[in-house]
Amino acid sequence: MTAQRLDGVATAATVKAELRARVDALRGVGVTPGLATLMVGDDPASRSYVSGKHRDCDEVGIASVRVELPASATNADVHAAIRDLNAAREVTGFIVQLPLPAGLDEQAMLEAIDPAKDADGLHPTNLGRLVLGVQGPIDAPLPCTPTACVQLLARHGVPLAGAEVCVIGRGLTVGRSIGLLLTRRGVDATVTLTHSRTPDLAEHVRTADVVVAAVGRPHLVQPEWIKPGAAVLDVGITRERVLDNGKARLLGDVHPGVADVAGWLSPVPGGVGPMTRVMLLDNVVSAAERALL
Ligand code: NAP
Repeated sequence: MTAQRLDGVATAATVKAELRARVDALRGVGVTPGLATLMVGDDPASRSYVSGKHRDCDEVGIASVRVELPASATNADVHAAIRDLNAAREVTGFIVQLPLPAGLDEQAMLEAIDPAKDADGLHPTNLGRLVLGVQGPIDAPLPCTPTACVQLLARHGVPLAGAEVCVIGRGLTVGRSIGLLLTRRGVDATVTLTHSRTPDLAEHVRTADVVVAAVGRPHLVQPEWIKPGAAVLDVGITRERVLDNGKARLLGDVHPGVADVAGWLSPVPGGVGPMTRVMLLDNVVSAAERALL
């Protein structure tokens, strides 16, 4: 069997077209959604991520604002910048680009963001709303990568109702919250959350109809772990230096041989990553729509 591709690039292009139409409708009533990024210091990877987010905004008509502070910024400086963004009328959503330089309290900064403007969907208030909102629509920003995974499956017609899902990794950005989305009424998957201390990880994966690998260990998930025909989402990313041209190669958590067993497979790059980026834009547009109500 050769797995069908869960194509994040093509699906993200479809979502962007939908977002462009929503942005046009908002502009029609005098509202321009705006994303701000707050970056502290000059980490090259962070700078590249932030630039990508601004390019994405341009593509769909979202205004974007860059706020940059030097690596020497204090907790008070960053708090003041967050307060300004909370108050800025032209900013409907913003992110604090992580990691912050050593010595800054990341958790405190994330909690200082106005939950209504939380573009990453990781504010404790919004995660709490996800816990409470097991049925009906959720009227709050959603965590971008977990939502990207669910959308990628749903938009390829991979059934989730009644499916056994094995999530590998209990990190904050993916594993911790994805079960809250997958087990909502109407989605109705059954989720097992595994981590580095799970005995016999392979046994859990073998029974799964859907596998979400969110670890950051290249090629951890082996072909013989996969139930034939299962859908496999490769979320983890490891950058491997390629010495001859100095560029980094991106490696996923899933061994390439899984493509011969799985029914569906998301590639790295080109799978969950592009979908995560559009889910950030969706949170910004949704926040602007909510503010109109
Ligand atoms: P994280 O906070 O570092 O979490 C990693 C998780 O993997 C931890 O729960 C850890 O378990 C678990 N783990 C480590 N080794 C394991 C093993 N051998 N077997 C089973 N579980 C193991 O990372 P994260 O923020 O959740 O991100 C996970 C990965 O997804 C990273 O590679 C990240 O770059 C990637 N990511 C990709 C996107 C995207 O858009 N494609 C977005 C977000 C994140 P313990 O808790 O027991 O240590």
